[in-house]
Amino acid sequence: MTAPSNIYPTAALKALDAAHHLHPFSDMKTLNEEGSRIITSAEGVWLTDSDGNRIMDGMAGLWCVQVGHGRAEIADAVHRQMCELSYYNTFFKTSHPPAVALSEKLAQLAPAHVNKVFYCSSGSEANDTVFRMVRTYWDQMGQPDKKVIISRWNGYHGSTLAGTSLGGMKAMHGQGDLPVPGVHHIDQPYWFGEGGEMSPDAFGVQAARELERAIDALGEDNVAAFIAEPIQGAGGVIIPPGSYWPEIRRILSERDILFVADEVICGFGRLGRWFGSDHFGLDPDLMAIAKGLTSGYLPMGGVLVSDKVAAGLFEKGGEFFHGYTYSGHPACAAAALTNLEIMEREGLVDRVADDIGPYLQARWRALADHPLVGEARMTGLMGALELVPDKADRTRAFADTGTVGTICRDLSFQNGLVMRAVRDSMIISPPLVLSHDEADYLVATAKKTLDETYAVLKKDGWLD
Ligand SMILES: *Cc1c(COP(=O)(O)O)cnc(C)c1O
Repeated sequence: MTAPSNIYPTAALKALDAAHHLHPFSDMKTLNEEGSRIITSAEGVWLTDSDGNRIMDGMAGLWCVQVGHGRAEIADAVHRQMCELSYYNTFFKTSHPPAVALSEKLAQLAPAHVNKVFYCSSGSEANDTVFRMVRTYWDQMGQPDKKVIISRWNGYHGSTLAGTSLGGMKAMHGQGDLPVPGVHHIDQPYWFGEGGEMSPDAFGVQAARELERAIDALGEDNVAAFIAEPIQGAGGVIIPPGSYWPEIRRILSERDILFVADEVICGFGRLGRWFGSDHFGLDPDLMAIAKGLTSGYLPMGGVLVSDKVAAGLFEKGGEFFHGYTYSGHPACAAAALTNLEIMEREGLVDRVADDIGPYLQARWRALADHPLVGEARMTGLMGALELVPDKADRTRAFADTGTVGTICRDLSFQNGLVMRAVRDSMIISPPLVLSHDEADYLVATAKKTLDETYAVLKKDGWLD
């Protein structure tokens, strides 16, 4: 049997979904009362649901569909690969052409000092790999006390035990009794929400010095690594003040700990360079990748490893007891290779830097004039709108955090645009192929949605 698409009417699909399907990050009780929206096909930046509505995918799926939906070229490459060699492992001294070719390609795209890759199937697994790799590195270097990993509150590094632990989502920590020992969280560089009376740059320096204080308090000899997203995605597109990353670089250059850039969202062109680390000049020792690597056509992740870490881990000999059945999966590697080929051929990364990026940013930032918007920010093609009850006072937030965001998100969906709500901010991260006309549609629909949200809030007494 082939996979069913919309062979059932929408109501039947919703009922079966409610009966049998447990969704990620969902309140299944309320979801099942409302019913899921069923997406049946997609092309470019447009989704179609089971009722035939067309909706713009303002989130590129989940931050991943860089080249847009429906690329037959990727499907064809995967089909060819599956006919040739659908699966073989990369354990036990074996490899295969797609894994070899993709590794060479990634080494070419990565910063000059990063030339190796370890494969897995997701961003979460990439960070599980990071977790074990940085500790094993220091063991190999004869410094077994260096074990603590420093990360940030409201960071997101996945949903497995290590991913959740490294992440700074308190609601996630509360389920499963996490984090595991040996992870230390510091504050995030979220000026709009936490900067108080400080200027963005003064706040950025202060937030960066949290890292310095943490390393010194824990003892440099006990710290293995610092992990961070160049721009926090799931935390609400937290774009750090300009002073933040230079100060972090200064602190790291004076201390002997590893730096891990979680590039799962910022990698593969999202910020107008191949990696967020290139955009901010981060010089990472390890880079977690996933999402845009395959544009989501098949699941694949990896850890890009610098020459220094690879040498420390492997030069003395001995096995790194780690790997996944699907590490380097040939069909996924074929999807990744074709995806990267499309990105290069169509110049999608430069397009974000020089064309659609600046075009959308200017229009998005103009939404800051709306009475509901406290800040409209965007770097590359990832942006956020902070919804506030009082434009004049950044420190005032809506009661019942998340309720206003959800109202706005639902209206946006009805209006034909997927925006995601994080707390009471609205997030977008569209495919990198977004055209100018589509960008105009995106901003016009966001504006209409803000107007309607404002009217609802006014009517229901949320605003003075
Ligand atoms: C999505 C995400 C992850 C987790 O990736 P999965 O493929 O969902 O496991 C890790 N880090 C960041 C920054 C992410 O955005």
